Amino acid sequence: MTGSQAVGRSAAGETRQHTVVVSAKGAGRWTAGHPWIYRTDVYAEPRDEAGLMAVTDRRGRHLGQALYSPKSEIRLRLLTRGTEHVDAAWWNARIAAALARRGTIAATAYRVVHAEGDGLPSLVVDRYGPYVVAQLLSAGVERLRDDIVDGIRTALAPEGILLRNDVAIRRHEGLPLEVVPAFGTVPELVEVLEHGVRYLAAPWSGQKTGAFLDQRENRALVAAHTAPGGRALDLFTYHGSFALQLARRAADVVAVDSSADALARGRDNAALNSLTNITWREANAFDLLRQFERQGERFDTIVLDPPAFAKSKESLPRARAGYKEINLRAMRLLNPGGVLFTCSCSYHVHRAAFADMLADAARDSGRRLQLVTWVGAGADHPELLNVPETGYLKGALLAPVD
Ligand code: SAH
Repeated sequence: MTGSQAVGRSAAGETRQHTVVVSAKGAGRWTAGHPWIYRTDVYAEPRDEAGLMAVTDRRGRHLGQALYSPKSEIRLRLLTRGTEHVDAAWWNARIAAALARRGTIAATAYRVVHAEGDGLPSLVVDRYGPYVVAQLLSAGVERLRDDIVDGIRTALAPEGILLRNDVAIRRHEGLPLEVVPAFGTVPELVEVLEHGVRYLAAPWSGQKTGAFLDQRENRALVAAHTAPGGRALDLFTYHGSFALQLARRAADVVAVDSSADALARGRDNAALNSLTNITWREANAFDLLRQFERQGERFDTIVLDPPAFAKSKESLPRARAGYKEINLRAMRLLNPGGVLFTCSCSYHVHRAAFADMLADAARDSGRRLQLVTWVGAGADHPELLNVPETGYLKGALLAPVD
């Protein structure tokens, strides 16, 4: 079957609606609630222009409208099953609906749109007070950028919108990695208030969109389990978001990261909260844990929030060994009555595998550890059951019973 064309806007600005035909298998994915259709399930290929596409089955039955990516293995991402006009007003309504689902959040920074998890594939919209930091992660949303930016402006009325499009997965889409202002101005640093703690996020240069918003509720949870007057260790602290929460209860906190820049902001963040009981240490967490074990150091609260060790399925065995090493050592450093909060943000390390690794580490550590609770990302990073890729963060709060 031939004859489909590229999608886009004519010089006059009116939308040309074009059609792509998909296999029964591709259509079945949508029926099952997963928005992606792969290259091999697309019959009639438009030539090379990304954008919005009407999608039908082989008999011409309308299946929906989707974002089309000519260079990606993921060719189509479902936006709507309807035939309505997908314009700035459409994006505004969808973003406003995602915002309404968020309810009340105990912070000035949070995720408004979690891509597939909110039915808006490949679009991330984070709010930092009066500013918005967004990510356009496919060629389709890149193409619809003006309407999306308009939609964000109407739904959230920000003072500025920054696009943190410097994400590696854009390479699969044939898109450049760049950080570009899309509207108004966004400052280098934005102050965030989160569960009573203030910290500076760095939208232009920080990790993700400037901060790790997905751990917000977990920081409050660990703080609530932190012994007043005890000793805390925050490994992989970044700019100290866990450490700040722990420092409000613990007598002293050791905050560790390998990035001097992140630690410098951590120090500023401590000063912002008049906290003087955090020691900032630039170190490799693996080495420092070994050293602490040798020296017989002990802690009442330990946080392990490493970067994703498994970036692919192939790296799983190595990643597991890395996770096991830090967890085993952290377990040995725990004081009786203390807690260990440990997590993995590797999508490829599923919760069952993470639990299995933790059990293995517990056996080798010689400690008996109670599983106090399992957690995931905050509710502003919703997981769609039909799309396992939307759930990546898993964490366990553990307490020794010996
Ligand atoms: N806990 C943080 C997020 C941590 S992200 C928060 O809640 O905001 C992971 C951090 O690990 C990054 O800041 C990175 O610089 C740091 N990192 C990566 N490898 C490391 C290593 N081997 N030792 C110490 N820190 C490391």
